[in-house]
Amino acid sequence: MGAFRAVVVEKGEAGQSVGLRDFDDADLMEGDVTVRVSHSTVNYKDGLAITGKAPVVRRFPMIPGIDLAGTVEASNHAEFKPGDAVVLNGWGVGETHLGAYSERARLKGDWLIPLPSALTPAQAMAIGTAGYTAMLCVMALERHGLAPDRGPVVVTGAAGGVGSVAIALLSRLGWHVIASTGRAEEADYLKGLGAAEIVDRAELSAPGKPLAKERWAAGVDSVGSHTLANLLAMTRYGGAVAACGLAGGMDLPSSVAPFILRGVSLLGIDSVMAPKALRCAAWDRLAHDLDLGKLAAMTTTIGLDDVMDAGRRIVEGKVRGRTVVEIA
Ligand code: NDP
Repeated sequence: MGAFRAVVVEKGEAGQSVGLRDFDDADLMEGDVTVRVSHSTVNYKDGLAITGKAPVVRRFPMIPGIDLAGTVEASNHAEFKPGDAVVLNGWGVGETHLGAYSERARLKGDWLIPLPSALTPAQAMAIGTAGYTAMLCVMALERHGLAPDRGPVVVTGAAGGVGSVAIALLSRLGWHVIASTGRAEEADYLKGLGAAEIVDRAELSAPGKPLAKERWAAGVDSVGSHTLANLLAMTRYGGAVAACGLAGGMDLPSSVAPFILRGVSLLGIDSVMAPKALRCAAWDRLAHDLDLGKLAAMTTTIGLDDVMDAGRRIVEGKVRGRTVVEIA
C-alpha cells in the first residue's frame, strides 16, 4: 500500500526525537482493521509522548496519538467493514501500539467503536479521550448517587481538556459548577461553558488540613497531589471526588479523615483500559448530553505539522480546551 505521512518518535544516542515523515505500510503493527485516519486530537498524554517528559512511549519508533476517528479501509473483524466510520480511544495506542498522528492506522477491531451517528469525526475528536474521560467522571459521580440537589461540584484543571468538557456536561445536567483554574484571564471562557463560580487554583494547591470547611458535594479532579487532597478535605458528608489526572503531581498527600469522618469517596477513573460496554455508554451519553455549541467554543483545529508544537504547549499548561488535528 506504500508510504503515508505520520508523526514519528524515535530514540537515538542523543535521546528522543520527533518529526513528521513518510512511514511505510509494511512497518505498521499487526491488527485486523486498517483505518484511514481523518482526525485526531492532542491530549496531555500525547504531549508527554511528544516531549518525552514522561515515559509514555514504550516502543520505538512510535507514532504517537492516543485518539483517532476515521473510516475503515480493510477489515477481517466481524463487526467492521470498509466504509464504516469508527472512533478509537486509548488501549495503549500511541504508547505501545503505533498510533493516531498518521494517515493510516492498523488496529485491533476490538478496540474500535462505531462513530456515534450524532457526531462528525471532527466533533468526536474535539471530545477525544479528555472529553470521554470527563464523561466517565460524571457517570461515576452519578453511580455514587450524586445529583445537583446535593450541592455544588468542583472541577479542577478547568481550562484544560477534561476540565472544559466536564464543566459543559455538568452545567447542562443542572449542577452548580465551581471551576478551579490558574488562568484568571479565562474566567469568561469558563463561564461561557457553564461555570457558576471561579476559584484560583492556588487556593487548592498548597498543603491543607485533613478536614476543612465543606464546600462541595462532588468533584472532578485532573490535577492530583495537594489539589486532590484539598478537594477531599472540603467535600460534604457522603460526597465523592472522581480522580482522573495528575497535571499537578502523581502523589496524594492526604489522610483517611475525609473517608472515615465524612463518608467521602474517592472514585478512580481510567479511560485507557475501560471495558467496551462502559465506553459505548459514555459515548452515547456524550452524543446526547454535550452541548455541541460549547464543544465548538472550546475547540481549536490544527494540522499534522502543528502536532509537535501543540504537544509541547499542552505539557506547559498553555493549551485552552480541546485541540483537533485534521489529518485527511
Ligand atoms: P490539559 O493540559 O488540557 O489540562 C490540564 C489542566 O490542569 C491545565 O489546563 C491546567 O488548568 C491544570 N494544570 C496544569 N498544570 C498544573 C499544575 N502544575 N498544578 C495545577 N493545575 C495544573 O490536559 P487534559 O485535560 O488532557 O488532561 C488532564 C489530566 O488528566 C492529565 O493529567 C491527564 O494525564 C489526565 N487524564 C487521565 C485520563 C485517565 O484515563 N485517567 C484520561 C485523560 C486525561 P488551568 O489552567 O485551568 O489551571
